[in-house]
Amino acid sequence: MGNDEDYMALLNRAKLNLPETIESHERFELPELDIMQEGKTTILRNFMDIADRVRREPQHLLHFLLKELGTPGEIDNRRAIFKAKISPSVLNERLQQYIETYVICAECSRPDTKLVKYDRTMVLECEACGASRPISVRKTLRSGPDELRAGDIIEIVINDVGKKGDGIGKYDDMIVIVPGTAKGARARVKITNISNRTAFGQVTNEAATR
Ligand SMILES: [Zn+2]
Repeated sequence: MGNDEDYMALLNRAKLNLPETIESHERFELPELDIMQEGKTTILRNFMDIADRVRREPQHLLHFLLKELGTPGEIDNRRAIFKAKISPSVLNERLQQYIETYVICAECSRPDTKLVKYDRTMVLECEACGASRPISVRKTLRSGPDELRAGDIIEIVINDVGKKGDGIGKYDDMIVIVPGTAKGARARVKITNISNRTAFGQVTNEAATR
């Protein structure tokens, strides 16, 4: 019986310790996204709830989302309006990216942090464990338009042909248009020009530089 008592005491102690242990490993949960599509507009109806939850300036969060989504938009009362069709999963992904970058402490994984600006560096300070880290804006998931440059030589597969007969391939998230290539071809392409998210190139025999 003595053993049972010890066991119960142990269990109680374990229970007492439990909430904190679980909490610190808990994934930071956002409120469920309340999204409405209206024609070519996407409305995030509980945008302000999300900004409140992450405890960041709504404008800062909006600015990040607009940049990542590559779309104009604005805050309207408690909602955010994006002037594009955006799927809930994409929006959710971008929000998670924001949280990873600007909210979660790298040491203890808690969201109890604040952003502090020192000179030109933004620092994330954790109120829970005291750790701080500079914000490193991770390279966005998609490659930026400036990532591929004119003169680069890449190897791509042409997986489509445009209306004018030009071959079309992809490099990361960029569309690469290459005249004189056929669908299914593997082409070594020298980039001649880049406009927005589209690169133009021509077939080359030179060695790939990427
Ligand atoms: Zn921390």
